[in-house]
Amino acid sequence: MSYKYLFGPILSRRLGRSLGIDVTPFKTCSFDCIFCQCGCTTQLTAERGEFVPLTEVCAEVERWLAEDGKADCITFAGSGEPTLYSRLGELICFIKSHTALPVIVLSNGTLLYRPDVRAELLTADQVKVSLSAWDDASFQQINRPALKLSFQQVLNGERAFRRQFPGKLWLEVFLMEGINAEPEQVKKIAAAAREIRPDKIHLNTAVRPPAEAAVQPVSKEKLDHLCSLFTPCAEVIASFAAQTGSAAELSVEKLIDLIRRHPSTVAQLAQTFGVKPSVILPLLEDSRLQNEVRGGDLYYKCR
Ligand code: SF4
Repeated sequence: MSYKYLFGPILSRRLGRSLGIDVTPFKTCSFDCIFCQCGCTTQLTAERGEFVPLTEVCAEVERWLAEDGKADCITFAGSGEPTLYSRLGELICFIKSHTALPVIVLSNGTLLYRPDVRAELLTADQVKVSLSAWDDASFQQINRPALKLSFQQVLNGERAFRRQFPGKLWLEVFLMEGINAEPEQVKKIAAAAREIRPDKIHLNTAVRPPAEAAVQPVSKEKLDHLCSLFTPCAEVIASFAAQTGSAAELSVEKLIDLIRRHPSTVAQLAQTFGVKPSVILPLLEDSRLQNEVRGGDLYYKCR
């Protein structure tokens, strides 16, 4: 049976086998990042709302726990910013009362300046926030935030959250060639990152097709070199890890659910579902999908 708000589980090196929960409509976000792998933001907002009924999401979580329940964690992620969901705190509490699986929130950190949002995220086991700029000009260029959001406001919010949050706080820094990857620029990002005091820092780059086609990835060698500028020393993150999925989980709808949030190569999809690429290829003929060459690899994404 398919789900409306749940997707995956998908595999990542950072999280293992992660069941995704998407509680915002497609590309509803407080940022319109030039590097976003889900494309341009269609609803740019910093206003929270109950975009999807809490009862329906809770019912899906209960059904998944009863029918499957096999994952390493449950992760709020997807194509938008999860803290925009006004019932997020209640949903996290519901999940925590029904399973021992760790709950992770992947957030851009924009709403952490709000005490109510910080309080809701305190119930999560792990939170990942992002920081890819060093001042307001670079912030506006890279993240293209909703009106009124400033770099300092976001940084202050992430610092305040760190002071309160006892769980694991990770920070993702997205670097792009010619935009924010020169050592002098990265040193400034690293100085801001130090103020947040994350437990881990991950460097990412535009390996997958980004919102703006002109965005160029940073080489693995350069990223490796830049890691030591951060405290704690950063790690370069990759896309998919080894497979633990199952062919029985494969369907065209599951593929599209995954590709909508994570443009993927045939090899990555084959790893995720534990099948040969030849099994995946016919499903990728679906008219809802298109492809794009990126870094010499053919990525499939939704139209
Ligand atoms: S990368 Fe994340 S924060 Fe940026 S636009 Fe995409 S969904 Fe929003």
